[in-house]
Amino acid sequence: MTQPLLTIDLDAACANWRALDILSGTAETAVAVKANAYGCGVAEIATAIAGSGCETFFVATVEEGVELRAALPKEAIYVLNGVADRRDSAACIASGLRPCLNHPGQIEAWQRSEGGACALQLDSGMSRLGLQPAELEQVPGDIDVRLVISHLACADEPEHPANESQRRRFLEYMAHLESKTPNARRSLAATGGTLLGADFHFDLVRCGIGIYGGQPFDAAQPVVRLETPIVQIRDIPKEQLVGYGASWIADRPSRIGTLPLGYADGLHRALSNGAMLYFEGNPVPLVGRVSMDLITVDLTDYPQVNVGDTLEVLGPNQGVDDLAQAAGTIGYEILTSLGHRYTRRYTQVNGT
Ligand SMILES: *Cc1c(COP(=O)(O)O)cnc(C)c1O
Repeated sequence: MTQPLLTIDLDAACANWRALDILSGTAETAVAVKANAYGCGVAEIATAIAGSGCETFFVATVEEGVELRAALPKEAIYVLNGVADRRDSAACIASGLRPCLNHPGQIEAWQRSEGGACALQLDSGMSRLGLQPAELEQVPGDIDVRLVISHLACADEPEHPANESQRRRFLEYMAHLESKTPNARRSLAATGGTLLGADFHFDLVRCGIGIYGGQPFDAAQPVVRLETPIVQIRDIPKEQLVGYGASWIADRPSRIGTLPLGYADGLHRALSNGAMLYFEGNPVPLVGRVSMDLITVDLTDYPQVNVGDTLEVLGPNQGVDDLAQAAGTIGYEILTSLGHRYTRRYTQVNGT
């Protein structure tokens, strides 16, 4: 191996979809594939999951929707951020995308362009996107709403009172809209909400992180694996510095390995002097600063390791959420930061 290798297990992603589909009971299990399927590769992920039976997908932007349509000719694609103007609306219509209309201006833009099927997003308490209560009256009666959605702010904390209060508000706001949205299904839950139980499932759940093997879906199978070769090994004397800023200084004669990935590849700089890689299951400490294209590790306790040998960054010994914790972030950010320079390999044994 001469380059870092990112392996994406499509069978695991499909197994996670099936597991969430069972948990969501009679609700449809749709999948969020925004941000290049959380960094995992939108065409590959969406094609594999559609092959497992998923019929509805969510992206953030119109551009993402157009790209996804090229991979999925017939599935329903919703655009969470909606349409800002005529150009967006025209692109949605041309690609058969359904925008989530988030405020009266978006509804107007969509109607002016004579757009068809769409979704409405309601703000049930997150204060981010969606119609506010006073705006519900402005929803016209002649709009083809297929789905009404809202989003939970604290679904990864099952005991948080915001979950129940958002659920009640969602019901209340939908009651106001009932006569204007006779064909609409209802959707409140993402992965966290799916795990909150049947009261949160409504007609459709929108799972993202759980599909990609991240928390809060404990039972998820890991989807990504990242391995890197060692490109150089050097022996340094006691008191020699390693890396930018001299943030690590050898306290014994040391053996330092250099690896060809850095913060430009999604290995957050916050991991400097604070992460482990793994050699055949054994922890190898990252020492010194993470630089843009390189990191350094302390191989002093591993005299048997040679240039060209492989260390695990993500895999059986360290999941996405473990690395996230070391970096002071969440699995979502580790995944969406995964670099574009990695050699990517997709594995699928059970593909249809
Ligand atoms: C990203 C997103 C989802 C998926 O969330 P996960 O927590 O990754 O399951 C669902 N709905 C909306 C509105 C989102 O923005």
